[in-house]
Amino acid sequence: MTRTLLASERRSDWKLVESFLREVSRRYEVQWAPSFAEAGATLGKGEVQVCIVDAELGRDRGLELVAASSSAGLRAPMLVLVNTDDPRFETAALRAGAAGVLVRDDMTARSLERAVRHALDRARSVDPAGTASSTYAILSTNELLERVELAQVRARRNHAGCAVLAVSYDMPTTARATAEHVGAAFHGPLVERIRDCLGPMDSVFRTERHELGIVLETLHDVRSAAEVAGRVLSAMSEPMTLQGKEIQLSGQVGIAIFPEHGSQPETLVQLAREAMHSARAGSRSQLRVHGSVRPGAPSAGNRRSELRRALPGADERGELTLHYQPQVDVVDHALVGAEALMRWTSPELGVVPPSEFVPLAEELGLISSFGAWALREACIQGKAWSDEGRPIRVGVNVSAQQFHMQGRKLGDVVRQALDVSGLPANLLELEITEGLLLENTSTTRELLAELRREGVLIAVDDFGTGYASLSYVKRFPMDVIKIDREFVRNLPVDAENAAITSSIVALAHCLGIEVIAEGVETEAEEVFLRALGCRIVQGYLHGRPMPAEDFTRWYEGRRASGVDLRRATSVAPRSAAERR
Ligand code: C2E
Ligand code: CA
Ligand code: CA
Repeated sequence: MTRTLLASERRSDWKLVESFLREVSRRYEVQWAPSFAEAGATLGKGEVQVCIVDAELGRDRGLELVAASSSAGLRAPMLVLVNTDDPRFETAALRAGAAGVLVRDDMTARSLERAVRHALDRARSVDPAGTASSTYAILSTNELLERVELAQVRARRNHAGCAVLAVSYDMPTTARATAEHVGAAFHGPLVERIRDCLGPMDSVFRTERHELGIVLETLHDVRSAAEVAGRVLSAMSEPMTLQGKEIQLSGQVGIAIFPEHGSQPETLVQLAREAMHSARAGSRSQLRVHGSVRPGAPSAGNRRSELRRALPGADERGELTLHYQPQVDVVDHALVGAEALMRWTSPELGVVPPSEFVPLAEELGLISSFGAWALREACIQGKAWSDEGRPIRVGVNVSAQQFHMQGRKLGDVVRQALDVSGLPANLLELEITEGLLLENTSTTRELLAELRREGVLIAVDDFGTGYASLSYVKRFPMDVIKIDREFVRNLPVDAENAAITSSIVALAHCLGIEVIAEGVETEAEEVFLRALGCRIVQGYLHGRPMPAEDFTRWYEGRRASGVDLRRATSVAPRSAAERR
């Protein structure tokens, strides 16, 4: 028996939920709590396995119940029942810790039972074939990436492949605003319809406003991925009702296959998206597999010139965003900081990774302007987190070009970002590259020393790659050394890397400099680093770079599970006076 609690003042909700669940399976027992107090008391006993709560319970206190239950560490997943399906409301429910949102008027026996089952699966963390949250429409690229990674593990084990499908859908302009307004009531049924085209292990996620990501598991050839894509396209083209009116969607699908097209989840997702965008650009085809040649498809040279044309002004057009990657103390599990990493979403070219556009921005002289934007944006986010009781140190990458182009004026750019945002200087960390140390100009050195005196932290990025000698480390004003991923990979099996990291950590400790190991992907790497005395790690093992909203959710999730993440800085920061 699955003990289900329905918390709502309406008796009709109870009757509806009970009859729906019983219609699908006899294993549900639905208990009714008609008030906020009664719901709280019943949940507190810890006897129910899942709870469906009306958002309007106790004068709109439904979400409060969700938040209270999640902060009390109660295990029962909570689904929130809503009338009006405002996307903001949806986000608020998920933020409060809800496992999903149910729209009362759109609920069917099947969709309700499925949502409940998925919420339970997820809570038990039994491998859920498609998560509840995805059905109920959170935007989360991160979950998609995690899923791709899981699919890859299984594919390797089964000597098979897997595929990522990027799906975009479009609708008549007149319908767009309505669809946005009704939120889950539109996206929920659409996602359900697509899910019906997939196998039991496949999953679908909403990644962007009008984009979905699909992961196909255990695949034996490209053709079967294309077949599924064809089914998805035809399911999408069937008419849908949107507030009583019939509308028709059009869509495009891009496909990338593992292992043929790449081994990193990000790469696969990006290639699938690129293929989708190029299907869109080509007038006729709705489906495109990465790498398949289409007459007129841009060649590599073409792509570069397209990037070159599209990049200028990306900051002013609002096409840049920052993703944040957590930096965690492995000894006490505190969250130490977040590195801000830039992303460019071009309307024509899709998501372009920084490895591609940052060097181009440097070459075109755009990096100062992009960099100033990133500083401001990260400081504003840092301040918002700190105001919300999450004092997270934010790391911002500063290109050597910015020093070359702006010289001492860069100091004013930093101060302005701090002023405008109100972020305390000691919550800002500037990441400079080792190459800049090697240039060793007095302007750079003085500027960094000045900023440090004002409280800003200086981190040296990609440490170990540029052959900076000990003397530079001693001479340069710095607080943090970031060991490059190249030296972290395969620890401790890779003996050379083990020797290099040990000596970097030992050196830093002697000089009282904090060390962050980058690109930590495995437990083994972390265990070894920890044994060396390197306390802070950043890498996929703890979290991928994610949009600020996802980052906040990730943080709250950790906090709810009892991990104290409140600390702002790891080692007590030296006072400004102590600094050189
Ligand atoms: P970086 O500063 O060395 O940033 C770390 C890179 O490693 C990020 O790549 C991050 O996603 C990736 N990474 C983190 N953990 C792992 C892991 O466990 N495994 C693997 N394989 N990779 C991991 P991303 O975001 O693609 O950024 C690439 C580079 O672009 C950055 O390298 C940085 O040099 C540059 N960049 C990014 N944002 C900015 C920016 O705002 N300004 C400037 N000037 N450069 C930026
Ligand atoms: Ca960096
Ligand atoms: Ca780095």
